[in-house]
Amino acid sequence: MPVKQEPKIGFVSLGCPKALVDSEQILTQLRAEGYGVAPSYAAADLVVVNTCGFIDAAVAESLEAIGEALSENGKVIVTGCLGAKGDLVRDLHPSVLAVTGPHACQEVLAAVHAHLPRPHDPFLDLVPPQGIKLTPRHYAYLKISEGCNHRCTFCIIPQMRGGLISRPIGEVLKEAETLVRAGVKELLIISQDTSAYGVDARYRTGFWNGRPIKTQLTPLAAALGELGVWVRLHYVYPYPHVDDLIPLMAEGKLLPYLDVPLQHASPRVLKAMKRPANTGDTLARIRRWREICPDITLRSTFIVGFPGETAADFDRLLAFLEEAELDRVGCFSYSPVAGAAANDLPDPVAEEIKQARQERLMALQATISAGRLRRKLGRSCTVLVDAIEEDGTAVARSSADAPEIDGAVYIEAGRDLPVGEFVRVRIVDADQHDLYGERL
Ligand code: SF4
Repeated sequence: MPVKQEPKIGFVSLGCPKALVDSEQILTQLRAEGYGVAPSYAAADLVVVNTCGFIDAAVAESLEAIGEALSENGKVIVTGCLGAKGDLVRDLHPSVLAVTGPHACQEVLAAVHAHLPRPHDPFLDLVPPQGIKLTPRHYAYLKISEGCNHRCTFCIIPQMRGGLISRPIGEVLKEAETLVRAGVKELLIISQDTSAYGVDARYRTGFWNGRPIKTQLTPLAAALGELGVWVRLHYVYPYPHVDDLIPLMAEGKLLPYLDVPLQHASPRVLKAMKRPANTGDTLARIRRWREICPDITLRSTFIVGFPGETAADFDRLLAFLEEAELDRVGCFSYSPVAGAAANDLPDPVAEEIKQARQERLMALQATISAGRLRRKLGRSCTVLVDAIEEDGTAVARSSADAPEIDGAVYIEAGRDLPVGEFVRVRIVDADQHDLYGERL
């Protein structure tokens, strides 16, 4: 008897970790319903493209990906942040089958059902309890909320994704437990605004394994810290209560790592961005964080060339970086995003000045980063092995290195080191972004 082939979905996932989690949820649901996942356009009966619309370059990349999927396969459903601008997609690619916005798992599934009928006899137990993950088995992103209540003038995420909606704390902790049971060693906590977790729910008391627990970041972080894996916090908007997390890091319950997007250091520019503008206070807080937890790694992102940024504003940002000595810094040169309030601000900065400022900032940060990494020479630390390269070098990460965005710890002759496991190393060399270790 011929075996009936399962209908196969091709999936293209673009954008940030939050979009990646949306992709994982859609794929998990599709697998649960009995659809297969195709490794190529040719093998797919239909392709879903999860897009990013954050900056113009991401919009262009997403539109190009949709075009490629249409020409290679022909049956395409578009979802994600660019989907929120449906007209843009349909104007350029009128033959797409459906367009949904971000975080729209059920709408995507409905569109798939309409154009590729659901398989007759799904084997629900074929799906692992932790769902389908697009990350390696040993780390996973855990999304705790969707949307954002801020109105930073350069950003259209609140328009695209709406106001903050926090996931119930019991549900988040249950997912975390399931992931840990499935072998995940590192949980990366993400959202648009991690420190606002629970604001929309008025910090309601939820339940986890029968235990009452408030829908708020500090109790959530403390509970995650009980799971015995690395817990790394991303996108932590600098509210005062973030200070409460630092003792948990000092106690080893959370990774001593804080990703706080500060965006600028000049009060004038921060005000125009509608961001918290007390830079002196930020420096004092950073000092206090380091007193409580000397091993803390601080990561931040900045925008240079924001409309109205003067040479003095930029110098102030450089002076801030010199004083703060952040460990990891990302820097974007401002680019207008359609629909952002900042587009209406006067005094745009010329493109070549933006580029020059970005280069100057990154050159300064490279020196700071190299200095901070040099302090680790001779120290021993625990690393999580991500991969083994062809020449036998193991690529691992310490508490200071988030996957994809930070540096790595390279261990020579590490072919037999276990991928996805923790090992102890001594740091023997450092450059501007990476460390080199030998196993202990
Ligand atoms: S906090 Fe982040 S997501 Fe929210 S508006 Fe500002 S930049 Fe956008």
